[in-house]
Amino acid sequence: MPDPVRVRFAPSPTGALHVGGARTAVYNWAFARRHGGVFVLRIDDTDPGRSTTENTAQILRSLEWLGLDWDEGPEVGGPFGPYFQTQRSGNYATALERMKANGTAYPCFCSMEHLESRRAVARAAGGDPGYDRTCRRLDPADAAQRVEAGEPHVWRLAVPAGRGDIVVRDAVRGETVFPAEAMDDFILVRGDGTPTYNFATVVDDADMQISHIIRGDDHLSNTPRQILVYEALGRPVPLFAHLSMIWGADGKKLSKRHGATSVEAFREEGYLPEALLNYLALLGWSLDGETTIVPAEVLKRQFSLDRISKSPAVFDFEKLDWMNGVYIRDVPPETFAARMVPWLEAAGLANPGDLEARPEWYVALAPLVRERAKRMTDIAPMVAFLFTDHVALEPSATSRVLGREGAGRVLAAAHDALSSLKTWTAATVEETLRTLPESLQTKAKTVFQVARVAVTGSMVSLPLFESIALLGRERTLARLEVARSATTH
Ligand code: GLU
Repeated sequence: MPDPVRVRFAPSPTGALHVGGARTAVYNWAFARRHGGVFVLRIDDTDPGRSTTENTAQILRSLEWLGLDWDEGPEVGGPFGPYFQTQRSGNYATALERMKANGTAYPCFCSMEHLESRRAVARAAGGDPGYDRTCRRLDPADAAQRVEAGEPHVWRLAVPAGRGDIVVRDAVRGETVFPAEAMDDFILVRGDGTPTYNFATVVDDADMQISHIIRGDDHLSNTPRQILVYEALGRPVPLFAHLSMIWGADGKKLSKRHGATSVEAFREEGYLPEALLNYLALLGWSLDGETTIVPAEVLKRQFSLDRISKSPAVFDFEKLDWMNGVYIRDVPPETFAARMVPWLEAAGLANPGDLEARPEWYVALAPLVRERAKRMTDIAPMVAFLFTDHVALEPSATSRVLGREGAGRVLAAAHDALSSLKTWTAATVEETLRTLPESLQTKAKTVFQVARVAVTGSMVSLPLFESIALLGRERTLARLEVARSATTH
């Protein structure tokens, strides 16, 4: 393992952070943590039309939410900054100078039209449509003079004659050989002076002393070109790990059609960051082939490149839901209370300050909800009946349960029995209601169902006695009364 391990996540801020990018970030972060290395965040904002500060902000927010802290990058700085490519033009200029000096970069004055017509001819002959190296044959002194005179030009890499095939050594895919003939003298710096992706990335990765490049395999075809740039700069080539694509269940590249794909969307849909982090980690990596619950702490200790899979990973929304439920149930009640309140506020149920006003009430509610929620968005509908004076009785429940023979009697008796209760707890409520079936000569199930509909408005709800305890005496009695007047028997 090269020392020190330095890895980077280098998103282009042209949109939200999606699961593919997020998984790349997770692997880089986990790898750095595992080896006591450095996780760098670099913003590849070289596409001026599509890069926005809002996108950058959203990417940072998503990474922070997932708990992926970076050691160098935006907001934290670091010894190799700045960490935005648009602020690193000096580095690209220096690198180009070096390549000019050692003869590995040359100016090209070919016009678009010229290039197009050459390409068409080459294609017609069934040849390689890459650049035909016209300008590489110019006399260097002449070329320098034309540059000096301000003639429009780009800078190209001079692929060394006789370089031979380029072998990409990859921790996931082993060796991939790219034939030298397939490498044309590609552009490093455009006519407007901006660096191309393959050039800027290598200059930055080299300057930032990146030891391992872990990224999506959509970049694999760029890698041989990047290796040539490292060689031209005389810098060591890092180790690569290219990650396979993420598919939807239908075997097509994961996209919006399949469901949420941005980290922000998963957050809004009520997934816990620790669950999503665990899920993303297992999208193409495994601890031991069977363990599914792999929290951040374990990842930080045990993540390794050799357990990354070569085959595409399939995003399974059901499995994520399941995993989210596991993590939800694992949150201690006090913490869960604090984490659920923002969702209740967003739904207009709770108000800021409510949690502080009655923490025990929320802590008592937390375990009831935790057992039943797959996502945080499930919570508000489940508890809404506790936050209103007048519960809406579901019509079907009303007609089926409250319309039943004897419902009125049950409600009157429940009201009577509960109104004389001295201490109002789930246990005392339960004890009281359990005496009713016998005195009313009816089934326990009937009593509880009638009471449930009256109090919660629905036939499916949080546990009855706890619900009544949390709802409080006044509201419970009022609801039993309202429901009784709605009964026909
Ligand atoms: N900005 C590039 C991207 O988002 C980085 C690719 C790389 O990791 O080299 O795809």
